Amino acid sequence: MTKYTATLLLILLVIIPGTQISPQQARHDPVFDGDNAYDFLVDQCDFGPRPPGSENLSLCRSYIAGSLESLGWNTTLQNFTYLGVECFNIIGRWGNDSEPRLTLGAHYDTRPLADQDPFIGNRTLPVLGANDAASGVAVLLELARVLPEEIRVEVELVFFDAEDSGGISGWNWIVGSNYFVSQLSQDRIDSISAMILLDMVGDENLVLQREVSSTRSLQDTVWSVAAELGYDDIFIDVLGRSIIDDHRPFLDVGIASLDIIHHDPFPSSWHTTSDIPERCSPDSLEVVGQALEVFTVDHVRNLTALQPDLFQILISALRIIIVVGLPVVAVVVVVYYRFWKK
Ligand SMILES: [Zn+2]
Repeated sequence: MTKYTATLLLILLVIIPGTQISPQQARHDPVFDGDNAYDFLVDQCDFGPRPPGSENLSLCRSYIAGSLESLGWNTTLQNFTYLGVECFNIIGRWGNDSEPRLTLGAHYDTRPLADQDPFIGNRTLPVLGANDAASGVAVLLELARVLPEEIRVEVELVFFDAEDSGGISGWNWIVGSNYFVSQLSQDRIDSISAMILLDMVGDENLVLQREVSSTRSLQDTVWSVAAELGYDDIFIDVLGRSIIDDHRPFLDVGIASLDIIHHDPFPSSWHTTSDIPERCSPDSLEVVGQALEVFTVDHVRNLTALQPDLFQILISALRIIIVVGLPVVAVVVVVYYRFWKK
């Protein structure tokens, strides 16, 4: 290569703007398994009703944390007390010092009273909570198993306590997620690109309307992923209602958030003694799980693509050296020959 060719190549590197070399990734092929997820759902229900502060919920908490840890996730329990009851959010992360940018959540407590039961005599009984909300937890646990390892570092799994006792004995709704968000620093809030919540996603006749308070652009993305997978008969393009749920505290601090919830109307087993595994379906869990799996992989890859890689950093450094360095060398050469050498 002559020195002229080398110079020309260098100049081309400088003037070709924004050299993009990120390869186009093929769309991820989902492997989320509805039968596995259904096993996670049944396992939770085997502990019985799981209201905040109960022994059943404590056992279920150990089960969720143990399941995550057996899959290689690190778990921490976030402890808080509400109206004298000790509560715990469960947080799962991949690796010790990860700072994940996508938060996926579900509540794992169940409603203490079946106050929507059609039989008045049943309304003092607790809810078993197969759909509300063992279904959301089950999908997150199966996702913890199937997400590609390089994606997991950008994903935080949060299982909220104390979501579903609103209006009973002076309790509010969404207590655990409110506490979780109250503990986030502004830096941490700024680092979260999106939050997605799963609530009641396991009914045998699952229908997911668009929840109104959710961030529309995020919802559009998830709905279009679901449509591409052929699931637009479940992720229907119909506006539902605005729901007070665990995504709200995230929205309130400015994090793009989406509630994936069967809600307009709620499934017929909602807050009744009929919220049992037999009313849920592995197929429903698989539809939601696969859509969320593909969304998550795409979302994390897009985030990563936004970061300059080493090659682009080197090209940028070379540009600066040439743009600044060449004129300096030229001036020195001119000065040397025109004035100094005389
Ligand atoms: Zn509920």
